[in-house]
Amino acid sequence: MNANLVLIPGDGIGPEIIGSAAEVLRIISRKFNHTFSMKEADAGGCAIDRHGVPLPDETLKACLESDSVLLGAVGGTQWETLPGHLRPERALLGLRKELGLFANLRPVKLQKVLAAASPLRQDITDRGVDVLIVRELTGGLYFGERGRGEGSMGPYAYDTERYSVEEIRRIGVVAFEAARKRRKKMCSVDKANVLESSRLWRETMHVLKQEYPDVQYSDMLVDNAAMQLIRDPSQFDVMVTSNLFGDILSDEASQLTGSIGLLASASLGKGKCGLYEPIHGSAPDIAGKGVANPIATILSAAMMLRMSFDLAQEADAIEAAVEAVLEQGYRTGDIAAGGLSVGTKEITEKIIEALEA
Ligand code: NAD
Repeated sequence: MNANLVLIPGDGIGPEIIGSAAEVLRIISRKFNHTFSMKEADAGGCAIDRHGVPLPDETLKACLESDSVLLGAVGGTQWETLPGHLRPERALLGLRKELGLFANLRPVKLQKVLAAASPLRQDITDRGVDVLIVRELTGGLYFGERGRGEGSMGPYAYDTERYSVEEIRRIGVVAFEAARKRRKKMCSVDKANVLESSRLWRETMHVLKQEYPDVQYSDMLVDNAAMQLIRDPSQFDVMVTSNLFGDILSDEASQLTGSIGLLASASLGKGKCGLYEPIHGSAPDIAGKGVANPIATILSAAMMLRMSFDLAQEADAIEAAVEAVLEQGYRTGDIAAGGLSVGTKEITEKIIEALEA
């Protein structure tokens, strides 16, 4: 296949980890006979320095014309004092909005060889942690009406949670389809005992579940879900939830693996074009030192191949190569737990060796 990819290295460790993912993609294209044309574009702090804005028009145009986007990370202390509309993070919001990316998918999988890094007890990690969190990304509390006023008890502020049936349905479809490709279990998380928007969420999911009789469906209240993720994460396959609850639960779940250097994410919209990125930030404290863990970005590239291009075999090959390298004992500093560690370049070479084996 031919695919046009836009790579956005961004700031901090972004260029180092995107460089590693690009090398892996080049090996995959050679091994499986694909043509990936990769074009680099500026966004974030480096775009502010070079173009005066966090998301230049030409970057947005390239992304809109591409088949998918792979992003490193944006941000850094040198841009923290700029006004809100000029902050590096604005690039992410702009990309999500302009590409219509309403679904955020975050797989949380604990690699058996790294189980000791998890804060969970061994009897819990032994049962396995392999959850996909599907978060609604463009609606709900973060986009509802908000304001401030003056009342009988003094100044007040409010935010509103608003969801339409269509917004709930389309995120439900993404989650059910993902569950079909996994262990066919889906848990919808809401607060239907209190919130009207959650009651509509639940009603809509119940209508939709009729179309997926092969997927085992359940509902869970968000407070219980937060607890169950710690008590027994092995009960979950796919979890789908609103913007606010997903923001919190996905960060909670990511910690179950003990490292943010390993976790990938995808933001998807109506079409096949998605934005794929590691969940961590630009790690300015280690930028340029050659020690960043590139695995989350390499796994984001694997997610892109699987979700945007239906290249499951190629994605499996990348995931298996990462697992093999970890099993061989290679670790970057963030997951070395005080033991011996290798740098970005060396672990990338090992992953490529495993891919070519
Ligand atoms: P961070 O994720 O960048 O770093 C937190 C800690 O984890 C640091 O000690 C860092 O060295 C370490 N770390 C992160 N990724 C690593 C990797 N791949 N390998 C090894 N160690 C790694 O979070 P932060 O320090 O709060 O934020 C730094 C900057 O990144 C800020 O400007 C923030 O706004 C931005 N940020 C961007 C994104 C994004 O681009 N999607 C996400 C989160 C934070």
